[in-house]
Parts: sequence; C-alpha cells; structure tokens
Amino acid sequence: MTARIINGTRIGKEIREEVCADVLRLKNSGVIPGLAAVLVGNHPASHIYIRNKIKACDSLGVFSKLVHLPEDTTTTQLLQCVSDLNHQDSLHGILVQLPLPNHIDEAAILFAIDPAKDVDGLHPLNAGNLALGHAGLRPCTPSGVIEILLRERISVKGAHVVVIGRSNLVGKPLGLLLLQQHATVTLCHSRTKNLGKITQTGDILVAAVGYPGLVTADLVKPGAVVIDVGINRVDDKLVGDVDYEPVLKKASLLTPVPGGVGPMTIAC
Ligand code: NAD
Repeated sequence: MTARIINGTRIGKEIREEVCADVLRLKNSGVIPGLAAVLVGNHPASHIYIRNKIKACDSLGVFSKLVHLPEDTTTTQLLQCVSDLNHQDSLHGILVQLPLPNHIDEAAILFAIDPAKDVDGLHPLNAGNLALGHAGLRPCTPSGVIEILLRERISVKGAHVVVIGRSNLVGKPLGLLLLQQHATVTLCHSRTKNLGKITQTGDILVAAVGYPGLVTADLVKPGAVVIDVGINRVDDKLVGDVDYEPVLKKASLLTPVPGGVGPMTIAC
C-alpha cells in the first residue's frame, strides 16, 4: 500500500479563497479587517512565520501591522503594547508570536489580549470556551488539522484518534476539537509508557512533538491516516515528526512536511 499524500497547500488555498470572499463582503459593508502581528526579538523561525502571515494578509486584502520589538523588551512594555493594540479600532486581531524571550511572562501577555481579538485562541477565556464546547476563537494549527480531516472527508466520528503531544498550542486544543467532532481521543506525551502500543490502535495518528523521525512505520496502524504537525530542521531541510518514506507505505493518507499542516496554519 502507498498512502495518498494530502495536499495542505491546495486546501489552504481553498480556505484563503473563502476568506477572500468574506473580506470583500466586509469591505463592502465598510469594514477593512486588520491584524496586528507582534514579534519580540530575533528568533529566526518566528521571523519566517510572521513574514508568511503578513504576506497572507496582503494577498487577502487584510490590513496588517507588524510590531517588531527588541529582544530586551520587558513584560511591562509588552503589556503596554498589547493594551494599545486592544484599543485600536482598525485592528480586529492581535497575534503575539510565540515563543517569547524567556524573561517575558508569556501567560500575562496572553491574558492581556482582548479575548475578542485573540486570533490565536490562547486567552484563558477562549481556551475555556473550547474546553466547554462553547463558541470562541480557536488556535490555528489544531483548526488546520480539523479542516484537513473535514475537507478530505475523513470520518472522525467514533474513530480512535491518537495525538502525540499535549502542548497548549497544539496537542491539548486539538484533543478538545476532536472530541467535539465525536472522536475517541488519546493524548500521548513524553511520559507516555508503551507509546507504540497506543499509536498502533489509532485510526488517525497526529504527531505534534518536534522530534524528527519519532513516528516510525511500526508505530502506525496499517491503513491509518497520519497527520504530521512537526516542523524540524535537519541538515538545512524541513522535516516533520514522521519517518516519511516507510510510513508512506503503511498509512492510507499522509500529510507531507512542508506542504501539509503548515499552509493550513497560515490559512486558518
Ligand atoms: P511543545 O514542545 O510545546 O510540545 C511537544 C509535545 O511533545 C509535549 O507535549 C511533549 O510531552 C511531547 N513529547 C516530547 N517528546 C516526546 C516523545 N519522545 N514521545 C511522545 N511525546 C513527546 O511543541 P508544540 O508547540 O506543540 O509543537 C510541536 C511541533 O509542531 C513542533 O515541531 C513545532 O515546530 C510544530 N508546529 C507546527 C506548526 C505548523 O504549522 N505545522 C504549528 C505549531 C507547531
């Protein structure tokens, strides 16, 4: 068996076209949607992520404002910046690029973002609404994974989905979104015993770890759908968490890196 490769770039483009139509409708009603992206310091990967998000805004006709602050910005200064952005009517979304430098109180910053502008869905109010199954803003990478599953017509209801990774950004919210789609969810993490025994029972397996080659073919149930969220740089090449070629031969569907979940994150 060779898995079909899921084209995240194509699905991402489909979503952007839908968003483009929404943006046009908003503009016709007199609203130009605006996003503020805040970058602190010079984390190389963050530069690339922010640049791609700004580019995506430009291509959609969304107004964007990049706020680039120096590495030595204090928590108090960043709180002031977030407060200013909260009060700017031309900005409807605020995105503070993570990770922040270690000396900054990340929780305090996320808590300071107006929940209605919290496009990353990381404010405790939005995270709480997600846990309770209420409406709210959702983190973009987990939303991207759900969109892939829905748009590829992969049946999630009643399926056993194993997610490796339990971060606040990806694994945990993804587990909750999958529960809302009526999946049976198992979250695995660095302390999970007998990881392979669990992953081998997953109809759908999601890897969100940041460890290249962690998901070897023997961890995959034959015919499973495998979603690779991981982004790792190995010998100057971007790779995921999945041992790509061997898993391609065992799974039924697989997302590549790059070109899988990444473009979905930006689109969402
Ligand atoms: P994180 O470091 O916050 O979390 C990693 C998780 O993996 C933790 O829950 C940890 O318990 C678990 N883990 C670590 N080692 C493990 C092991 N040996 N076995 C099982 N579980 C293990 O990372 P994150 O922010 O959740 O990101 C995960 C990966 O996804 C990273 O590679 C990141 O770059 C990537 N990412 C990609 C996108 C995208 O758009 N494609 C978006 C966000 C994150």
